[in-house]
Amino acid sequence: MATEIKDFSKLCVHTFTTKPWGIEDCVKNYSEAGIRGITIWRNVLENKNLNEVKSLLDDHNMQVVSLCRGGFFPSVNAAKRQAAIDDNLLAIEQAAAIGAPMIVLVCGADGGQSLEKSREQIVEGIQRVLPVAQSAGVKLAIEPLHPMYAGDRSAVNTLKQANDMTALINSPSVGVAVDVYHLWWDEALQSEIKRCAAQKHLFAFHVCDWNVPTLDFLNDRGLMGEGCINIPEIRGWVEGVGFEGFNEVEIFSDKYWAMDQHQYLERIKQAYLTKV
Ligand code: ZN
Repeated sequence: MATEIKDFSKLCVHTFTTKPWGIEDCVKNYSEAGIRGITIWRNVLENKNLNEVKSLLDDHNMQVVSLCRGGFFPSVNAAKRQAAIDDNLLAIEQAAAIGAPMIVLVCGADGGQSLEKSREQIVEGIQRVLPVAQSAGVKLAIEPLHPMYAGDRSAVNTLKQANDMTALINSPSVGVAVDVYHLWWDEALQSEIKRCAAQKHLFAFHVCDWNVPTLDFLNDRGLMGEGCINIPEIRGWVEGVGFEGFNEVEIFSDKYWAMDQHQYLERIKQAYLTKV
């Protein structure tokens, strides 16, 4: 089993979790709430001076865990594949500018071609941006998404597929992000967590919960403890193979975005101590 969580030293919150807040509010309010880890979604960086964002983060002693997100490599259209490469190169620049050591990849899929073809294009895309990521000191984490997204968001739907890709690419800069929301159902999850840790490719751990029933496939994720995922068990697997990184709270929820975000952050902290 997982060790007991006693404090917030390994709590990271994704800016998308508190979507009504811009980057300044996220940094200020997380910091005031005693949260040190932040994963920054690129939407909050639009039209921002990244040097100023970096200073803001430093002034509040925040540790950037990841930049979200790169990816979306596959397309039946070559121009769109090139546009994705350019966008990933931009993400690498942004990550380096704000001090993010890693970019999470939502790899993409194109329903106009097979999943196998999309996966080939994902590997190709990662290989093309990898040298730039390496020289910028930015790692890339492949995040498998739940199969309900296989038609448009990701052709990588199991940890096995992500591990196969990282094994093929075979670089210390390319690993995986394990998100309980996407992977909790997979009977091979524990063995694949062991496998990616053995390859030193376990880069990130994301938590939220799976609501039963789920009312919306994108924006109805549950707060930890509200749904059917045994999060402590999975955290135990991840820690059992030596993962020492942050526990990242990533919740997309129309319900929670509608409430007072300060109160919501307090609920996240409570759930973090007792349900993760
Ligand atoms: Zn995630």
